[in-house]
This record gives sequence, C-alpha cells and structure tokens, in this order.
Amino acid sequence: MKYPEEMYIDSQIFAVDMDGSESNLTEKIVKIRTPHSCCVCEKQIPKGEKMLNQKAIVEGQGWCSCYICIPCVENWLEESGQVEDGEVE
Ligand SMILES: [Zn+2]
Repeated sequence: MKYPEEMYIDSQIFAVDMDGSESNLTEKIVKIRTPHSCCVCEKQIPKGEKMLNQKAIVEGQGWCSCYICIPCVENWLEESGQVEDGEVE
C-alpha cells in the first residue's frame, strides 16, 4: 500500500450518488479470509491480501458488499487528483 490507510477508506471510489443515500456506505480495509474478486478489475485476489471492503444498504436488497483491490483504489486516488503522482516515497 502506497498511501495511508485512511486515504483508501476515504477514497469514495463508489460514492456515486445513486439515490442520494450514500451515507449508508461503509468502507474499511480488510484482510480477506477467502479469495475475492475485485469488483473494479475483476481480478481474483488471494486470501490474506488487503482489500477495500464497501458495504451499503440497497433498497430492496439489504446489505450489498463489494471488494476492491488496493491497486484499483490507488489508481482511483491518482486519477481523481487526491494524491499527486510520484509525490509519495
Ligand atoms: Zn482491482
């Protein structure tokens, strides 16, 4: 991980305003205990790796959760201008 954990958690990678209720979203960095595929790049991440876990309450469906791999979050942070490329040692 290149950046402080809080940056990943606060990345708001999927805080897209679907129905204005994105405050339901919870995000945390987890060490996965079973393999998960990243919901952005669809790569299978082996257990023991860290991923960003997002959970949201979706109307009619209850809790939805998805996992995003660290490189995808880093790409997002860079693309969205939340970090400057090359600035972090
Ligand atoms: Zn990914």
